[in-house]
Amino acid sequence: MTFTVHGISASKGIAIGRVRTVDRGRPEATERTLDPSRIEAEVRRFRRAVHAARGELRAVKARIPEGTPKEIAAFIDTHLLMLEDEAISKAPITYIRKTRCNAEWALKLERDALVAVFDAMDDPYLRTRKDDVEHVVNRVQIHLQGKRRKEPPPGETVAGRIIHADDLTPADTVLMQHQGVAGFMTEFGGPNSHTAILARSLDIPAVVGLHRSAAALLRDGDEVVLDGRQGVVIVSPSEVVKRFYERRGREIARIKAARHKLRSTPAVTADGEPVVLQANVELPGESAGAVRDGAAGVGLYRTEFLFMNRRDPPDEQEQFDAYSGLVAALKGAPVTIRTLDLGADKQVDGARPDSPATSNPALGLRAVRLCLKEQSLFRPQIRAILRASARGPVRMMIPMLTTTTELDQVLRIVRDCKRELDAEGEHYDASMPVGAMIEVPAAAICADIFAPRLDFFSIGTNDLIQYTIAIDRIDDEVSYLYDPLHPAVLRLIAITIAAGRKAGIPVAMCGEMAGDARYTKLLLGMGLREFSVHPNALLEVKQIIGETRIAPARKFTRRILRCIRSTTRLALVDELNRAGS
Ligand code: PEP
Ligand code: MG
Repeated sequence: MTFTVHGISASKGIAIGRVRTVDRGRPEATERTLDPSRIEAEVRRFRRAVHAARGELRAVKARIPEGTPKEIAAFIDTHLLMLEDEAISKAPITYIRKTRCNAEWALKLERDALVAVFDAMDDPYLRTRKDDVEHVVNRVQIHLQGKRRKEPPPGETVAGRIIHADDLTPADTVLMQHQGVAGFMTEFGGPNSHTAILARSLDIPAVVGLHRSAAALLRDGDEVVLDGRQGVVIVSPSEVVKRFYERRGREIARIKAARHKLRSTPAVTADGEPVVLQANVELPGESAGAVRDGAAGVGLYRTEFLFMNRRDPPDEQEQFDAYSGLVAALKGAPVTIRTLDLGADKQVDGARPDSPATSNPALGLRAVRLCLKEQSLFRPQIRAILRASARGPVRMMIPMLTTTTELDQVLRIVRDCKRELDAEGEHYDASMPVGAMIEVPAAAICADIFAPRLDFFSIGTNDLIQYTIAIDRIDDEVSYLYDPLHPAVLRLIAITIAAGRKAGIPVAMCGEMAGDARYTKLLLGMGLREFSVHPNALLEVKQIIGETRIAPARKFTRRILRCIRSTTRLALVDELNRAGS
């Protein structure tokens, strides 16, 4: 019988194949009260489970094929570190001794406490640490419950299979990609989890967040069609449906292959207007693919990743090594390094997950606000960015800029750092451009005030839309309101572009809207000439740029900006895209 399960699109593309279920069954814990005489035996049982989980992780690490991005080993190291962390390896022991509960329950209590801390954070990248906690805790629970975790079996090939799992670790994802897996579907995880990010960069179709809709119904070996773009999985498809998707898959492959020829062509509109098309990078390793696809630089390097997968922040030298490595990989193309955009301080908020300060984390102490408060975090980063600027073209970008006082403070710190580096005889580019993300409505409205004091703007539509329409960007319940074409959003973009133009500074866009080919012509019509997009979107956006003629696009765009009804606006955007202008 054919049926369909719906999840969240994590990585576009069509995959057709048989299901291979990996590690089904998230271990559930039940509470038991122990006889006082059994407490120390329970503590030993817990320690043995942690020890076994550690050994298992080391084995996974040893099996990572050569050539795998080094970030993958780093993810596993993070999990190993978490297993050593007191929270996971010691806190449950305290629970066992204090409340006489069983080890499974003690671990569950600790897991719940940690997850609550991560839930209180608004930054999607930091929130992925929650996935790390889940992975590590599950590993220990499986040992406690005497089950064996199913790693991708080394001998068995999963080539052509569609992996179904509760959740996958990034290491699983890469190992299976090496074995030629066709797609992934997971019950849990969001589109910004490590696994989803990796699936996108590895170009594997993936659907996440099925929320148990598939677990009860799917069997190993079932044939499925996975539509990564729509976030849909069709189980036991009819021959007609299968043929339809096979055709669609071939069409996508043909379109992608045809775009390869664009790799070495410049991004220029049909009427000869040059456009700067750059890539967003989370892991420095991703830059190779971006360069191969002809990115004219990195328009957004999200430095959070460098800080996230570890216990202690990287010091100045480690940051310098990472930034200058990226600069070297870009071979003379510019790199825009965004200063830390963390959502909240784990240590402080972790102690008070329900404090008023974290009840609305998107409006809290994040990004540049946090950096200005925690200057011991900020200054080494600025020094490292400055030092990297001696190695090639580097721009520094401030996230979440909202007030001129913040700008004064940042610029003062940059001046201080330059003075220190001078005194130490360190080299840097004295005129390294400093710009800001325009992602808070206040900054967009006052863009004319900021523009003369900055070297560039980059519009962060992910947050700009969140704050303008007042919807949490990671809350499923209000995602139906997420609309890049909302007149308020379009007006703020237009104001920012106009302010940049008046002040003579470049205006880029690095939010997801820039990488969504549906909006390329509209944005060109609005006057945007710099796009920074996910590496996989580079060629598609470049193709549309090449098909656009500015004058007609501009005319059409004016109509869209005047349009009140959302349905008409959408229809006009479709018309603009079809018009071949
Ligand atoms: C944005 O807000 O659009 C952006 C690019 O930054 P991030 O998604 O990292 O918040
Ligand atoms: Mg942002």
